[in-house]
Amino acid sequence: MRRLARAFVVLLATGLVFGLAGCERERAHNEKFLALGTIIDVTVYGTDEKLARQAAETLRDDFEYIHVAWNAWHPGTLGRINQLLPTGHAFTGSPSILPLILKSRELEEQSGGRFNPAIGNLIALWGFHSDEPPQGPPPAEDEIRRLVEAKPSLADVEIDGVTLRSINPEVKLDFGAFAKGYGIDLAVEHLRELGVTNAIVNAGGDLRAIGRHGTRPWRIGIRHPRAEGVIASIEIKGDESVFTSGDYERFFMWEGRRYHHIIDPHSGYPADNGSTSVTVLHHNAAEADAAATALFIAGPAHWHGVARAMGIRYVMLMDNDGTVHMNPAMAERIRFEIDPAPTVVLSEELS
Ligand code: AMP
Ligand code: MG
Repeated sequence: MRRLARAFVVLLATGLVFGLAGCERERAHNEKFLALGTIIDVTVYGTDEKLARQAAETLRDDFEYIHVAWNAWHPGTLGRINQLLPTGHAFTGSPSILPLILKSRELEEQSGGRFNPAIGNLIALWGFHSDEPPQGPPPAEDEIRRLVEAKPSLADVEIDGVTLRSINPEVKLDFGAFAKGYGIDLAVEHLRELGVTNAIVNAGGDLRAIGRHGTRPWRIGIRHPRAEGVIASIEIKGDESVFTSGDYERFFMWEGRRYHHIIDPHSGYPADNGSTSVTVLHHNAAEADAAATALFIAGPAHWHGVARAMGIRYVMLMDNDGTVHMNPAMAERIRFEIDPAPTVVLSEELS
């Protein structure tokens, strides 16, 4: 229940969608349910109520399945794979996980190893393989070093048809930075199969919108990483996803320092390259999710090159001083909702 309450707070704090015209509200059907540790909020437009209900029910089933199958610490499909990978033996991988591995392997490479779902052992060591946030203390330095030096990577997972084998015993899969996005893409596909063409699937502020949303465009609120409410809003056009990664989502404080859940695979520590939050606007949700995590780790000095390598064209990064870094195309889409607006550093174009 506490988790549910917290998720609602996050949902409200992200501001979500404003600007619905009255007549649109009548044609919008909205359902919420809990999955992947957050509230999934499905809004469907322009269908009759029966289809909207059926669509929401279908998505609820999908996300319930994903919640169990792709979780890195509850027993389930991924849990079984994680038990078998360190043995070094070949085994049959579940068809629901194989595409996640294949797609995120590409993204790991493009991100220069910043997005790396094979570092599950590090994430567990930091205490984030739990439904509740860890309390600290931080793990021992030599344990962290040992796991970093083992260099776990999805490139260590050999895939032959449906057969998997890891050549590195320290590979443990954690799709926490990717599953939400991948799941939202599947949900959108499923909605389209059902005949729904106008919808928003929103998981705790990370979302994908398809189709039209009435006469007025939707504005999506981007949560302020250090204050209540939204820092900026963005207009969504047609089929687009908005994903944010931040150091405020899951963290613990220890001796006055913040230890958050986005781990830099190269240091083994929570990423400390100067980011507070990163928002990515992109057409599909899976890539947006992976990119937001990778660009957070890249930080103000390197985000631009990593975004290019990952094919991302809209980025907003807030740094530790509260300065916002954006590419010009993103700056055109962003409207600040705080006064005074933050200092903005514009980069070169991304495309
Ligand atoms: P996100 O909120 O999308 O940035 O995802 C953060 C979650 O992804 C964490 O809670 C971890 O489960 C996982 N994670 C942390 N660091 C990484 C990383 N460098 N690469 C991939 N997944 C990560
Ligand atoms: Mg992510």
